[in-house]
Amino acid sequence: KKTEQLENSNQRLQKLNRVKNEFLSMVSHELKTPLTAIRTSSEFLREEDYDRETQEEMLDLIIRNIDRQSRMVDDLLDISRIESGRMVFKEEKVDLKEIIDNVIQMMEPMATKHGIAIERELDNDPRVKADKDKLLRVFVNLLNNAIKFTADRGESIKIKTEETGDFVEISVIDKGIGIPENEQEKIFEKFYQVDSTSRRKVGGSGLGLAIIKGIIEGHGGSIRVKSEPGVGSTFVFTLRKWEE
Ligand code: ADP
Repeated sequence: KKTEQLENSNQRLQKLNRVKNEFLSMVSHELKTPLTAIRTSSEFLREEDYDRETQEEMLDLIIRNIDRQSRMVDDLLDISRIESGRMVFKEEKVDLKEIIDNVIQMMEPMATKHGIAIERELDNDPRVKADKDKLLRVFVNLLNNAIKFTADRGESIKIKTEETGDFVEISVIDKGIGIPENEQEKIFEKFYQVDSTSRRKVGGSGLGLAIIKGIIEGHGGSIRVKSEPGVGSTFVFTLRKWEE
């Protein structure tokens, strides 16, 4: 019995170690990609005599990659805060209408660029108990994905709220490429991306949904996805209503 227990815990440790190594190798790879782009462009800029316009293009590329790198580091810090229980959540009275209007305004330029309209359908005038900045982040990430995976279909995206008991249920509905059934659980794991070329080219680190899930669960809510390939995806999450 004792040896059996020892063997089991030994196997568990080996598995943890494997997971940790995979994680490190994934992180290193993700962080290396922008660095390579920055390094190459800088070298060219130093060696070659480009005209002003080309120089500006290359500098833009460098800045974009620095931003990407720094977003990724922020995301990694957040994931680590979430997993170690160090992320602190404020309890603010949040007017959902206000925050949704805010988010639509922020995301509209990107959506319009892809011919996508963002609509909202609010049930009453919901107030929830939440950390406003973190909730904004959840919306931005979900909309960002919805736009990314709807691009070039010209279909609208909808944000809907519905009160159910002590909670408000919030849905972000897209008519994009959808997610196969067997992937729907996994997309909430860190670094997981559904693997197909059409998805890969839209970029991202696979951290977004893991952070969103951590934030929502940190609020005492939950998040799930309903999706069908070729039809679209709906992300539904819950937040506690604000009680006066
Ligand atoms: P990222 O967007 O950086 O890849 P996320 O954690 O936000 O990482 O998403 C993980 C994966 O889930 C994405 O790579 C994509 O395959 C899938 N996904 C997320 N949102 C959608 C969506 N609205 N429609 C289709 N697929 C999605």
